[in-house]
Amino acid sequence: MFKEYDLIVVGAGHAGCEAATAAANMGSSVLLITMNIENMAQMSCNPAMGGIAKGQIVREIDALGGHSGIVTDKTMIQFRMLNKSKGPAMWSPRAQSDRFLFVKEWRSILENTPNLDFWQDMVNDIIVEDNKIIGVKTGMGHEIRAKTVVLTNGTFLNGIIHIGKKTFGGGRIGERAATGLTESLIKLGFESDRMKTGTPVRVDGRTIDFSKLEEQAGDEIPGKFSFTDTPKLEKQRSCYLAYTSETVHNILREGFEDSPMFAGRIKGIGPRYCPSIEDKIDRFADKDRHQLFVEPEGWDTIEYYINGFSSSLPDHIQFKALRSIPGFENAKIFRPGYAIEYDYFPPVQLNYTLETKLVENLYFAGQINGTTGYEEAGAQGLMAGINASLKVSGKEPFILNRSESYIGVLIDDLITKGVDEPYRMFTSRAEYRLLLRQDNADLRLTERSYKIGLASEDRYQRMLSKRETIDNLIRKFKKVSLDPSEIDPYLKEKGTNALKQKTRISTILLRPQVNLLEMCDRSETIKNILKEFDNVNTDLLESIEILIKYEGYIAKENELANKFEKYEKLKLKPDFDYQQLQSLSFEAREKLSKIRPHTLGQAARISGVSPADISVLAVYLSK
Ligand SMILES: Cc1cc2nc3c(=O)[nH]c(=O)nc-3n(C[C@H](O)[C@H](O)[C@H](O)COP(=O)(O)OP(=O)(O)OC[C@H]3O[C@@H](n4cnc5c(N)ncnc54)[C@H](O)[C@@H]3O)c2cc1C
Repeated sequence: MFKEYDLIVVGAGHAGCEAATAAANMGSSVLLITMNIENMAQMSCNPAMGGIAKGQIVREIDALGGHSGIVTDKTMIQFRMLNKSKGPAMWSPRAQSDRFLFVKEWRSILENTPNLDFWQDMVNDIIVEDNKIIGVKTGMGHEIRAKTVVLTNGTFLNGIIHIGKKTFGGGRIGERAATGLTESLIKLGFESDRMKTGTPVRVDGRTIDFSKLEEQAGDEIPGKFSFTDTPKLEKQRSCYLAYTSETVHNILREGFEDSPMFAGRIKGIGPRYCPSIEDKIDRFADKDRHQLFVEPEGWDTIEYYINGFSSSLPDHIQFKALRSIPGFENAKIFRPGYAIEYDYFPPVQLNYTLETKLVENLYFAGQINGTTGYEEAGAQGLMAGINASLKVSGKEPFILNRSESYIGVLIDDLITKGVDEPYRMFTSRAEYRLLLRQDNADLRLTERSYKIGLASEDRYQRMLSKRETIDNLIRKFKKVSLDPSEIDPYLKEKGTNALKQKTRISTILLRPQVNLLEMCDRSETIKNILKEFDNVNTDLLESIEILIKYEGYIAKENELANKFEKYEKLKLKPDFDYQQLQSLSFEAREKLSKIRPHTLGQAARISGVSPADISVLAVYLSK
């Protein structure tokens, strides 16, 4: 009934969809097996993509030829560039999507991808011969063969849902848990553990009094994620801010004794930075209110997501507490908040390609690796799909390093340091975040993806043309000067000194008070320069301004990144016997033997391996 595939992707969440489309677009024959085809690319929690550091990941996925950015652009109902008041390394795009359209758009992309077949079923075992995976077994009794398999099971493996004292199996509310697979992997020698996450109540918008909430509109000029020509938003829906109070906190405290978290019924570790409302009240007892974001779930729906009110307290307590928030006095609830516990596999069991160390041709991607978030999942799926496809065709693996992408940081962190709580990306995790900006993801990554046959010709040509325009315009701005009479009125308005003489555009731009977009409006000389190019837009001008204003800092980071590259090039043998190097500390020998770093650079990032241990290894390598 089934042919032998190049790749089977298990699970059609954000990781699975990116994995399947990437591999299929690279020419591999792919079967996507998922438990419910209706729910492909479902947003389990809030319908928002991007955010701090996550927005950069979506831009990188897009630059590499993935689809998360395109789907978000086509389905967004609000766009905001976060952190715009900070330096450009921190600017992070975030979009609120229509959750129904998001699923529909992904489905259309999947169905229009050549080489991609679908099968609705539950994979409950894998077939391994001589430490190589050769296929999977399913709940409906099929054995399906493939050269490679990517597991992207998300929160479904032995998932247990908690609402107060109520506990039941499920991978998400309304969907059953996936069973059998964890146990079969453990039998093969994999280590597994438990994590937990949670989600808030969804509320009927007709019963919210928005006049008591603060409106939060989208950006006046909305941006987008994809570097392709996806449409820009023309109208947007607002989100709103609401606040809890001592009264709300006291009601929630009434439910603490039935809390699965406080009673110890939940054993898995949850995300520290994204706590439930009961956790926030407990940990920050001195705070008399917490901010909530009231977010629409789509263009036409009346359902609202109450971001910040995640809870696994009994539903009647959630309901009572919600109704004591100003604006929610008459609120009706669509669905209660809940917590979910699930199995994950510590990611130190993986190589850089996301292939497991234990079973050849088997890859793990997404929440199964202890991460959280659609963006982190999508990025891993894309990389696993690419690498599985390359492996099938006998080509070199595709690995991104820490100085060229957040995706490189993500994977290096996962496989080198492991996780002790659900891992999400932060800008602080990246050493070279001024290089890894959201505006330049295409310049950093599209060429690399084009060379392995994923990024399309059109993407590649767009990137080349953007690069050329940026270089030419910067050259012009460094050469052409403005007369004081032309720009002084603008400079005066911005509260900065008048020019003493004709000054180069690039020199004027170094002043923190001025910005290029405004200067374009005020200077005929600049307007005339721009007329020479036909692909200038707001985003491109912003990129140019960043490159001019931060030139010195960028050069310094590039220098540091190049130094770091040297360590990354010093390879360590995968079967090296660290126990024989007695001058290494005991802890270093243990950790190095377990994680088996690929390079000296990676070894240096393992916690417990000290600079002294690295010197020992460096001396050994030099011999
Ligand atoms: C209740 C809840 C709250 C969350 N809260 C947040 C949050 O606040 N912030 C945040 O960033 N992230 C949150 N997340 C996590 C976010 O949803 C995930 O990070 C993201 O969806 C992971 O993507 P994934 O592709 O790895 O897995 P998922 O999106 O979970 O998709 C897994 C897919 O695999 C399929 N599947 C699973 N097992 C099998 C099997 N054996 N056979 C066939 N198919 C299978 C499932 O049907 C599903 O399609 C939450 C998730 C849940 C469930």
